[in-house]
Amino acid sequence: MKLRLGLLWILIACICSGCSDEKVQQNDTSSSTCEVFAMDTYMTLTADGENVDKALNEAKARIEELDNILSTGNEESEIALLNKTGSGELSEDSFYLLEKSLEISDKTDGAFLPTIYPLMEAWGFPTKEFNVPEESTIESLLPLLDVGQVEIDSDKKSVSFKKAGMKLDFGGIAKGYTSDEIMKIFKENGIESGIVNLGGNVHTLGTKADGSLWKVGIQNPSGGEDYLGVLEIADKAVITSGGYERYFEEDGIIYHHIIDPDTGFPADNELQSVTIVSDNGLLADGLSTALFVMGLDKAIDFWRNNNTEFDVIMMTKDNVVYVSEGISDSFSTSYDMKLIER
Ligand code: ADP
Ligand code: MG
Repeated sequence: MKLRLGLLWILIACICSGCSDEKVQQNDTSSSTCEVFAMDTYMTLTADGENVDKALNEAKARIEELDNILSTGNEESEIALLNKTGSGELSEDSFYLLEKSLEISDKTDGAFLPTIYPLMEAWGFPTKEFNVPEESTIESLLPLLDVGQVEIDSDKKSVSFKKAGMKLDFGGIAKGYTSDEIMKIFKENGIESGIVNLGGNVHTLGTKADGSLWKVGIQNPSGGEDYLGVLEIADKAVITSGGYERYFEEDGIIYHHIIDPDTGFPADNELQSVTIVSDNGLLADGLSTALFVMGLDKAIDFWRNNNTEFDVIMMTKDNVVYVSEGISDSFSTSYDMKLIER
């Protein structure tokens, strides 16, 4: 469906059934947008090209498929059932995520742990019945995070927890993996230009249809200026973690949803947010969570040791923005900016 109507923007309901909220936006190109609520967040998918409607419908179906497999809140999901029984065979998707998340745990020295779920429950994040757990409760749960106690069989694609009560949570990488999968679907459908925003996690395919770079505004954790800054990029995932996304307040203290596996408490260091820029959405998502847990100095060291795989933008609590060398020329901000050199 290619309609060219100059610069006029028209929104019309899409004739496709699968993507019910789909709109067709027509400016000087034919691009379509699809909105989905899944994984507890709003998602917007936009693409441009001949097969765009088919691509968006397939992408929406894939998002829903992954949500049904991975959701810890849905009692029927594969991961919820595994968390109940402690062992089982997994789908290709879950097994892949488990293997990748164990690799990220290893690489980040345990800052990222897919076994974090018992603590998420103790803090009440899954049910939103928030609660500051007793120190003794946290102490008793910490041993359940030991990824060494997760036994996997790659042939059977099965997993078994060696300690009763261990539970998996792919919340720290699910959206990054999902955006990788959407990019795959876009490419399979011959799409060369697209952008998705999965609750603040952005992933771009190619450039804009007119050949210019995508401008991605990075959410401001301090609530000050509109954006922390703007990044001009093509073909990258731009994924942010921060304590401002999901949190509760008790006795004047803010408790957020990214847990430091060493303490069992919400990560508390000089960082307000970490944005990872990478070709790989899954990696970007895992590392945004992990580097937020690490804190500024460790995160800088980690980037220096792995700088071919990603770039990073970090905002500290005193509103200084640290940007790694690989993207500093593509990034603009009105905040004080410090360059992280290789
Ligand atoms: P968001 O999902 O809000 O975009 P993140 O990607 O940082 O933000 O993921 C946070 C989620 O990751 C939490 O809601 C929880 O499910 C999970 N999580 C929290 N702490 C950790 C951790 N240390 N390692 C791995 N996953 C974590
Ligand atoms: Mg993450």
